[in-house]
Amino acid sequence: MELKDKLDMILPKVQKPSRYIGGELNSVIKDKDKVKMRYAFCFPDTYDIGMSHLGMKILYSLKNAVPEYWCERVFMPLADMEQLMRENDIPLYGLESLDPIKDFDFIGFTLQYELCYTNILAMLDLAGLPVFSRDRKNLFPIVMAGGPCVCNAEPIADFIDLFVLGEGEEVNLELMRLAERYKENSGSKEEFLIEAAKIEGIYVPSLYDISYNEDNTIKAITPLKGAPEKVKKRIISDFDKVFSPSEFVVPFTQIVHDRAVVEVLRGCIRGCRFCQAGFIYRPFREKSKGAIVDQIKSLIESTGYDEVSLCSLSTSDYSDIEGLLTDITDYTDKKGVNLSLPSLRIDKFSDEVVKKIKSVRSSGLTFAPEAGSQRLRNVINKNITEEDIMKSCRIAFEGGYSSVKLYFMLGLPTETLEDIAAIKDLADKIIDLYYNTENRSKKPITISISLSTFIPKPFTPFEYEPQATKEQIEERQKYLLELIGSKGRRRIDVSWSHYDTTILEAVLARGDRRLCNVIYDAWKSGCKLDGWNEYFRFDLWKKALDKNGIDTAFYANRQRPYEEIAPWEHMDMLFSRDFLVRENKKAHEGITTANCREKCAGCGINKCLGKACFNYE
Ligand code: SF4
Repeated sequence: MELKDKLDMILPKVQKPSRYIGGELNSVIKDKDKVKMRYAFCFPDTYDIGMSHLGMKILYSLKNAVPEYWCERVFMPLADMEQLMRENDIPLYGLESLDPIKDFDFIGFTLQYELCYTNILAMLDLAGLPVFSRDRKNLFPIVMAGGPCVCNAEPIADFIDLFVLGEGEEVNLELMRLAERYKENSGSKEEFLIEAAKIEGIYVPSLYDISYNEDNTIKAITPLKGAPEKVKKRIISDFDKVFSPSEFVVPFTQIVHDRAVVEVLRGCIRGCRFCQAGFIYRPFREKSKGAIVDQIKSLIESTGYDEVSLCSLSTSDYSDIEGLLTDITDYTDKKGVNLSLPSLRIDKFSDEVVKKIKSVRSSGLTFAPEAGSQRLRNVINKNITEEDIMKSCRIAFEGGYSSVKLYFMLGLPTETLEDIAAIKDLADKIIDLYYNTENRSKKPITISISLSTFIPKPFTPFEYEPQATKEQIEERQKYLLELIGSKGRRRIDVSWSHYDTTILEAVLARGDRRLCNVIYDAWKSGCKLDGWNEYFRFDLWKKALDKNGIDTAFYANRQRPYEEIAPWEHMDMLFSRDFLVRENKKAHEGITTANCREKCAGCGINKCLGKACFNYE
């Protein structure tokens, strides 16, 4: 039976079958006999999440813009579909051609978060491929991965043939050209990988030997066969020229972010000390207003969406944000398109611009102060003050708002119970402000406090810090709940993340290659979709950790000395380690660092590119 017939048979039995059929508007179909390279772009999570991801849309369009390359989309099937695929011998397939991906030239994963690692194994296995790189003897398919987690890819180093460090737009095509030459002239997998490791930004884990000290720390990371001592992150220096898709695949089913999205800037000028994205996506670069408006126009016209969102780490930091919003709303208002602006700092705008932004009314008012007290916000370098929050709340309350969502982290370095109490004080002040605002809504105010647990991540000034233990986090949660009291919880809703997922994320984020076997055993015992509460099985993870003699506290709850060799020591994110150490010391002294636009902090990244920093002397 043909794969298509088998699919016809099983699809009526699964939830949301449109996730698995392809054929959406703007999906790219090519003649497979005429293309030279076939690429399966795998998002190791479900269709609904993956289809919302801008990076995937960019790289899908970029590869398909080359006439002789064909890139298809592949997502992690949910349990009902996976079971039926296995029962009916349906291998994992590309959504465009419905061909098995094991016959493609490249299988590329994007690593957006650590809890997707078991999904990678599940997808490789469902494709009919061995999960360990060493067991895939043929050159093709080449299994690769990119995305933020590549800054420490060691926990999945044994499964992936090569990684892309940094921005993928240029390096992906360079790699495909190299593979094309190998396909024409033939060559072994090892020869190809040695050659690929010479391309800047390519990390081939099998070309590095890792040795360990008796105390389990890393002794040395030794490059082999000409691999570079440090793999340098790739970046696009002229951001206006970066590839931007003029059309998106429009799904049949509703996805998490179902709208057009345009990236306005990359990087962040802030340098919050816990934030990996704020460091690894440096340097800060922005697109011109004209390029942004043109991209919005072409996406709206090619997709039929009636909503567009601006995407970046911190859109408020666009240098002429008011001018940009004016230019965009000139177009969107005419077209009846809604502009959605997640995480915009409205305290920075004139009343005129605030009125223009429909999202101020339509989407929630959210803040991420991360810490309750100004002292702790200084430690983490979170440049949001109580005054900023109050100003934004006042504007929003006058505009009819009656609910506020606040995000905090528990377990931040130097945190005390006083900092926890300050969370409640802040919520109380917002409630008082609401009831003292004239022209406010008549509804009672609701405040939602969302508590996550701080996870120390590589390439941040807090990479050295221990994660708080389960007991410490539970004590702090309990303390806050007691302060708010049962009466207070009628107005203040508190939610928190599960510690077990955060400790696993901490272990995987700062782990080394010895975790590969843990991931393998966890997956073998049934772990997958670990980012989903309903699927997460910490009991199975615990067994896999114990079986391999791994102590989570060694990876998660230990203070690491500055001089210890990190598992990611051979990755070069283009800013200096001294800078991170400096920032860590400043955190412990409660000293803030100004944003890059106000004063250069000397991280060194722009200098690496032969450019000056914002005010680099
Ligand atoms: S503002 Fe802070 S938290 Fe947000 S992206 Fe920038 S560095 Fe990260």
